[in-house]
Amino acid sequence: MEGKLIVFSSPSGAGKTTIVRRLLQKILNLEFSISACTRAIRPGEQDGRDYYFLSTKEFEEKIKNNEFIEWEEVYKGSYYGTLKSEAERIWQKGSHVIFDIDVKGAINIKKKYADRALTIFIKAPSLKAIEERLKGRETEDKKSLAERLERAKFELSCEDQFDKVILNDDLEKAVQEALDAVNGFIN
Ligand code: ADP
Ligand code: 5GP
Repeated sequence: MEGKLIVFSSPSGAGKTTIVRRLLQKILNLEFSISACTRAIRPGEQDGRDYYFLSTKEFEEKIKNNEFIEWEEVYKGSYYGTLKSEAERIWQKGSHVIFDIDVKGAINIKKKYADRALTIFIKAPSLKAIEERLKGRETEDKKSLAERLERAKFELSCEDQFDKVILNDDLEKAVQEALDAVNGFIN
């Protein structure tokens, strides 16, 4: 069996991490691709579980050595990227890879992998809802919150480039819709 790629994207705060975690509990032959990034580690996060936290120098070295499937400077000064070794590791176990990456990364993966990839865009009901969720998550300072809301406008303009758009208003409904889409794609 050839392993597939399932890519989730959304403006920060729309709920993709929450939905992806639920899918991982329900679909057993699915494994999360841990990205590399250079942003600061948040309380509660673990290196090698949430991200591979790298210094900018280490990240740039890996770019130079062509170790990424894709990478982006998602926020100013913060690099994020998917390591080839990470996807290979998961496919070798006979699982499909699930990604939580920014819209540009998702669109690049779709271009590269075509029918082997399913791209899903998670949408919140409004920018206001995104702002409230980010505030509720208590992970962003004022500057980072403003940057995320500003970027959300650009991200929302990309939704028509995805295979599927799911509105995350009622979380249970959104999870069910995501489950149906992923099961339909891998089975
Ligand atoms: P993302 O990964 O897209 O940045 P998260 O999954 O971290 O977003 O969700 C952002 C915050 O919103 C979290 O605190 C989460 O518990 C909350 N959240 C997720 N889905 C919903 C929903 N449908 N309604 C209200 N709050 C939600
Ligand atoms: P956060 O800092 O909130 O964890 O993530 C910020 C953004 O980076 C999110 O939109 C997330 O999807 C994106 N991201 C995480 N990993 C990757 C990756 O490997 N590649 C790309 N292009 N974006 C990523």
